[in-house]
Amino acid sequence: MGCQHLEELYELWLLGALSGQSSVDLREHLERGCPHCLARVRDATETVYVLGLASQPARPHPRVKAELLRQISRKTAPHR
Ligand SMILES: [Zn+2]
Repeated sequence: MGCQHLEELYELWLLGALSGQSSVDLREHLERGCPHCLARVRDATETVYVLGLASQPARPHPRVKAELLRQISRKTAPHR
């Protein structure tokens, strides 16, 4: 079973915007130590953290913010 479907959930999860079964699934998946997802979550953590530092007090709706984060993280995804 692949985990591509989890890729768009990392930022939401880190922002606490993910709830219910998706949140449980993602956490359990990470606890199993999937190296792909752990690397991606680390990148997502950096993205969320940096944007948190840089962002203005204006608070977009969580879904809008998550979508922005998704686009930004896709553009700046490091190819290491
Ligand atoms: Zn995975």
